[in-house]
Amino acid sequence: MKVMPAVATAPMIRREIADDHICLLTFDRPESGANIFDAATLDELNEHLDFVENEASLQGLIIASAKKSIFIAGADLKTLLQQAQSGDMREFIAKGQRIFDRLADLKIPTVAAIHGASAGGGYEVTLACDYRIASDDPATRMGLPETTLGLIPAWGGCTRLPRLIGVEKAAEVILKGKLYSAEEALKLGLIDDIAPRDQLLDHARKKLRAGKRKVEGGAPATPGSGELAPPRQTGNAAPERSYQIINKTVSISLDESLRMELDAIVDLGKKESTQNLIRNFFLAEKYKKGTPSRTATERVIHAAVIGAGVMGSGIAQWLSSRGVTVILRDIAREQIDRGLANIEKTYAGAVKRGLMTEEKAKQGRARICGSTAPMELRDVRFVIEAASEKMNIKKEVFRELAMEAGPKTIVATNTSALPVSELADVTVSPEHVIGMHFFNPVSRMKLVEVVIAKQTSDETRERTLAFARQIGKLPVVVRDSPGFLVNRVLFPYLLDAAQLFESGLEADKIDSALVQWGMPMGPMRLIDEIGVDITVDIGNTLERAYGKRDHVSAVLLWLRDQQMLGRKTGAGFYKYEGKTHKPNESLMQWRVVAGGGAPGRGEGSTKSQPASSPPATADDIALRLVLVMVNEAARCVEEKVVDSPEDADYGMILGTGFTPFRGGPLRFAEHFGLKKVVDELERLAQSEEKFSACEILRKHARDGTKFYENGR
Ligand code: NAD
Repeated sequence: MKVMPAVATAPMIRREIADDHICLLTFDRPESGANIFDAATLDELNEHLDFVENEASLQGLIIASAKKSIFIAGADLKTLLQQAQSGDMREFIAKGQRIFDRLADLKIPTVAAIHGASAGGGYEVTLACDYRIASDDPATRMGLPETTLGLIPAWGGCTRLPRLIGVEKAAEVILKGKLYSAEEALKLGLIDDIAPRDQLLDHARKKLRAGKRKVEGGAPATPGSGELAPPRQTGNAAPERSYQIINKTVSISLDESLRMELDAIVDLGKKESTQNLIRNFFLAEKYKKGTPSRTATERVIHAAVIGAGVMGSGIAQWLSSRGVTVILRDIAREQIDRGLANIEKTYAGAVKRGLMTEEKAKQGRARICGSTAPMELRDVRFVIEAASEKMNIKKEVFRELAMEAGPKTIVATNTSALPVSELADVTVSPEHVIGMHFFNPVSRMKLVEVVIAKQTSDETRERTLAFARQIGKLPVVVRDSPGFLVNRVLFPYLLDAAQLFESGLEADKIDSALVQWGMPMGPMRLIDEIGVDITVDIGNTLERAYGKRDHVSAVLLWLRDQQMLGRKTGAGFYKYEGKTHKPNESLMQWRVVAGGGAPGRGEGSTKSQPASSPPATADDIALRLVLVMVNEAARCVEEKVVDSPEDADYGMILGTGFTPFRGGPLRFAEHFGLKKVVDELERLAQSEEKFSACEILRKHARDGTKFYENGR
């Protein structure tokens, strides 16, 4: 087919008109792997639409992308964040709405030929076309993730999608905010057809022959019946706002609905919660990419994992799913078999949930070789030790590894609390020893704390960071000190929650206060998930290092001695039956025996600290517990356990689920007011010294300075 030279060449969008009079607009942002909608790209699209509207000979329009794996990634979030902060988002959003409206109103038929990721505004532009055809490539994924960033799809997403696929399905897509594969998208009605990648444009041309879509929206638009369950109220108001529009849109005009979208997004943009969620997005990008390394790093092909328990099997599974072959070693066949069964379960689960094809799972499983015998590890670039958390066992493993591993092999430990430098000392190449602290379950938790011991070389550090990124994890660098970052900040909070329980507050009252504050799960439930025994062990280790703020309350010792270890034994602070849980009544008896909620007398325990009178309201409970974390996170910055406040905040969000829309403990503290934080901690410290504010918090409060520079 003859292609006429472009009439007007524009830097972001190429226009070509073939002799069939079909206009092809190809998005191809120069020097970038992605297309995005910033103001300049919108203006260019507008100019092309001027041309298209005025060119009477045109028979149809196709929108496509020249990028390898991205159609259009969405609106430019940097601009959006700046505009949210300065309060002038309205103009940019209104402009997008006007231009997409023009596209929808064209007299000629239009098709979006989607290859690659098409998210947010990148999918909304396709909604303004008559038809959507997607390539069958795995890179093609689409959806409207705005609500996960505290925003709503306001370039027509909340208005056009319910008209296209019905209110209920649109609500699912918009409230979940996930991206769908082409096949899933076809089932939901997000697209009309799937075509092989190399035939995508031909299919699009054929589709144009169908002419304009008759009614906007093929699927019946089920009006809001009131049956749609409203989203759970959290500090992120975006799901609720989009839900209101989706429910109303089909009973009002398109223009009215777009106005609702505009008002909602402008309101949402002003919220601290939205700005935090957008910042988290940029942080994720930053940790994914890392800073360019000065050391040349090579792709890791072979690795070994020592210990096939919960973590070892989880790590081996993850590595194998990322293309790394793994030798998985344990002391006996029984442990290996148990580990392999765990791996099988994870793979089967991933296939069942549609995250992986059976073929991929099969290839992954085949990359793991279980063994009980010591073996040559010379070809192995990384060994990850995940044996039992006992110094003598780990030292033995490290001594042995020193003999088997090649001169360039990095030996990483997954220890939760033991000093990495002590392990480095027993090897012949201590500079190759480092910590890689994965979180449980490995297949779901993205964070890895990369623990730098005093002997760790820069090269080992760089190669480990590159390896963590190679396998799709997000590494945060921490100094080798008890609890590293995440456990150090989390445990004083968990242990103080147990102390509040002892002082008479019920577990579900404490938990619901924190859930209301925005935590995914309350601290008593979290202790049950981690395991009471493990909580006691880690608490004891941390108390030796940091004193009273990590004191283990008598109630925890009592639960442990009764073998009520949390979910794994069916009872802890709660009793578990299937997926439900209710307060553990044995603890009521314990309260009576212990003296009506007075500080406990569990075996082996000294009486807990004389507690200040327990906080009465949900807000007070949440504030006290969150401030415990704020104080510890600030100490981690003060003592340079982490390099920056961002590392502390992001580590806590990723490692513990700390309320993302609060932006992490330090970001929250700053928003709350550092002086108020210090005043509140000092008030609590009058009854218990453990609350005393750390120096860096006091300094900021005194000098009026901050952790983050303004606006960052
Ligand atoms: P686990 O008890 O489930 O597994 C430990 C495995 O190590 C067992 O199968 C044991 O047989 C094996 N082992 C013991 N000595 C060995 C040796 N000399 N050589 C080879 N294998 C040996 O423990 P886990 O929960 O998987 O924890 C493993 C490590 O990961 C610990 O250091 C722990 O602190 C850390 N960790 C655990 C979690 C968690 O949530 N479980 C989270 C992060 C880190």
